[in-house]
Amino acid sequence: MKIDISSVVKSIKDRIDLDLSVNKDELSEITPFKDLRIELVTPMVFVGALTNIDGAIKLSGEANVKYTTLCARCGVDVSSVMKFTIDEKLMNEADLKEDEREDFFYYSGNDLDIGKILSEYFYLNLPMREICSEACKGRCSKCGVNLNKEACACMSINANSQFEALKDFFK
Ligand SMILES: [Zn+2]
Ligand SMILES: [Zn+2]
Repeated sequence: MKIDISSVVKSIKDRIDLDLSVNKDELSEITPFKDLRIELVTPMVFVGALTNIDGAIKLSGEANVKYTTLCARCGVDVSSVMKFTIDEKLMNEADLKEDEREDFFYYSGNDLDIGKILSEYFYLNLPMREICSEACKGRCSKCGVNLNKEACACMSINANSQFEALKDFFK
């Protein structure tokens, strides 16, 4: 999602208020995270402003979004809400060398790709792993049943939960 920020770049106005609703397809540009199986339940809402402070463009505001991912133990959908605050000075792409571009948030001419910034914040704020509940028993390592829902005859329940405890220990 690109927005026209020419009025703050040219200092015609010193502020643009933003109230955006950003859809999933406008946030899904970051490919390494595709396999996290994140589904946005709602568009991401961002309320904030772009300001020009003595020639420096600043983006500030708050975002929130509802999403689902898979429990790291049992694989069922887990719903989460994420909120984050942005307070970033934006660089002008023309002032950055090619190899500096991934280290800064920047605008290009009169355009700001705000979808890219929101995507990066979203992924930076994701927990390393999510679980459906602290008490989640996971799945049987032999037959794969969801041990929160049923017991199985593999007699591996104890071994499995010890294995889970060890996995947590080595994180
Ligand atoms: Zn679970
Ligand atoms: Zn089993």
